[in-house]
Amino acid sequence: MHAHALGESRYGAARGRGTALFVAVGTGVGGAFVLPGGTLTGAHAAAGHVGHVPSVQARDLPCSCGGTGHLEAIASGPALVREFARRTTLEVADLQAVIASGDAEAASVIRLGGLAVGAMIGGLVNVLDPDVVVVGGGVVNAGDPWWTALIEAAGAELLPSLRDAEIVRSAPGGDAALLGAAALARELVGEEA
Ligand SMILES: [Zn+2]
Repeated sequence: MHAHALGESRYGAARGRGTALFVAVGTGVGGAFVLPGGTLTGAHAAAGHVGHVPSVQARDLPCSCGGTGHLEAIASGPALVREFARRTTLEVADLQAVIASGDAEAASVIRLGGLAVGAMIGGLVNVLDPDVVVVGGGVVNAGDPWWTALIEAAGAELLPSLRDAEIVRSAPGGDAALLGAAALARELVGEEA
């Protein structure tokens, strides 16, 4: 995750920006806060776990970390598939199958996921006031309904002075992650030298 965030920071959507909050929504929900000198690592090298913040939408759902009611429990790709299956009893393999089902609940579940991620982003922007928020990961491919819900929920949380916060989708393709891994490797080597 930190490698991906550094990639976006150096070469992707956050290029040339001072600070960036990177959020990835895929099989899990992760993130990183990138500063000019690198990513924020934290006292336990655990900073950036944006999937494990309390989420209204996650209700009392069990989370992968052992907790309950965390964002990842409702907003990850697998979590959205589970939520759809709970509502419809349809068997679906993945998020693309949920969307392809054409079921009315599909749109509702996609929107729910976007709202949950957006609320988290809005809250964190209020804390961190980053120059840009970059959102990536496979769930972004859920398309405009998901993104619209995300922007709506983030906007509802933002402090009045932060209403123009920039929230963008990650540049397409996986190049940023690879470039980030390379940049991270160089930094680690540099620290040891
Ligand atoms: Zn959790």
